[in-house]
Amino acid sequence: MLKQQLKLINANLPLLDKEKLCTLTIENGLWTSITKQKGYVKEGQANDLENMDEATVLNLEGKILLPGLVDAHMHLDKAFSLQKVGNSSGTLEEAVENYSYAVKDFSKQEIKSRIIRAALMAVSFGTTAIRTHLDFHIRWGKEVAFRTIEAAIEAKNELKTIVDIQLFPLTPFFHFTEEEINILEEAMQMGLTGFGGAPHLSQTPEKDIDIIFRLAEKYDCPIDFHTDESDDPNVRTVNHIAKRTIDYGMKGRVTVDHLCSLAAMSIEDAEKMINKMIEAGLKAVTLPGANLYLQGRHDSFPVRRGVTRVKELLSKGVPIATASDNIHDPFHPFGRGDLLQIGLITAYATHMGSPTDIRTILKMITEIPANILGLNGYGISVGNKANFVIFDAITPEELFTLLPERRWIYRNGGWLIVPGKQKSWNNPKIERLWSHSKSYMTLTL
Ligand SMILES: [Zn+2]
Repeated sequence: MLKQQLKLINANLPLLDKEKLCTLTIENGLWTSITKQKGYVKEGQANDLENMDEATVLNLEGKILLPGLVDAHMHLDKAFSLQKVGNSSGTLEEAVENYSYAVKDFSKQEIKSRIIRAALMAVSFGTTAIRTHLDFHIRWGKEVAFRTIEAAIEAKNELKTIVDIQLFPLTPFFHFTEEEINILEEAMQMGLTGFGGAPHLSQTPEKDIDIIFRLAEKYDCPIDFHTDESDDPNVRTVNHIAKRTIDYGMKGRVTVDHLCSLAAMSIEDAEKMINKMIEAGLKAVTLPGANLYLQGRHDSFPVRRGVTRVKELLSKGVPIATASDNIHDPFHPFGRGDLLQIGLITAYATHMGSPTDIRTILKMITEIPANILGLNGYGISVGNKANFVIFDAITPEELFTLLPERRWIYRNGGWLIVPGKQKSWNNPKIERLWSHSKSYMTLTL
């Protein structure tokens, strides 16, 4: 399966050049050359991609090639918990309450199976790196909180050759006790990537934010907060997060997600807020699927839809990614971990459909989240890792029109997915993990 050398011709690289086709070469899993072609090159065989096992030259026939997609915000541990947890009102409040009650009844194996299934599903659509937030409810005691953490660390290790996973605990949004801070530190020492939380849900958000910054400084790690996920324009914890980011010299290492209240406030107030974000070097993630579903639940018409001011943030220079958030759980009953689907929802929710907008959305699921995750050697450039996806579409517009099921996925010097084989995994070990995680779910229904 492992090929030392591979040459791809007639590749369409919309992130590099929207006019010209390219020839790319890979050796030992790294890009070794990227050359713009003068026109269509006649080399290789017709339908190379259908019979690729023996091929060292593949004619992409103008198909789109992107670096592996990056999902900057998921909840792998909660995915597929909808049946057991439920959310009859469809509100964020009920989702938080119901999950925090249900979590004590989930075994570590069940949580781990959900993580593996959700991660592999994302990979099957082209994602090669994920930042996941993890439930961390100390209210049921340390053992319950650690089940999710241990499950996530085990799953991350089992999947390490397939997908890079970053782990951020959703720290409690109620008053921290000393004992709880000690438990949080213990979890960090087990192998978490950084600290997260949802301080806008706290009665004492500034105090909680301060504690997280102190811990992040101590462990020299990034912060990623669920931030102002509310329709109330007066919910503005991002101000204090920006202030502390500057105080702690953490510019570029703090990410704020959701920012729904930014959409609800006046344009003047929003501009002030965005300027503070720029000053602090904050990065951002919009989660349009979950926000469209959860926000505006208390409005009569017109109903606010919660998606933040994506265009304004982009135009001011805030790096903002778009990501999956929840999949088939009480927070969001839909989703499948497909960043093309999320890109399409983003386009609808933000009125982004021009050729330039569509290319920007491609960056919001590739380069921008890669920057947020701090991935080294990412992207189509000589010397970087050749982790990429080929889509069965020849323009970015067609990509979001077709959401093509057929995607060829390459990572670490070999093919993970070859769609001619009915989307089966091109690796027996992954096939086993995939079917086991799905059958475990069935057994626990
Ligand atoms: Zn989230």
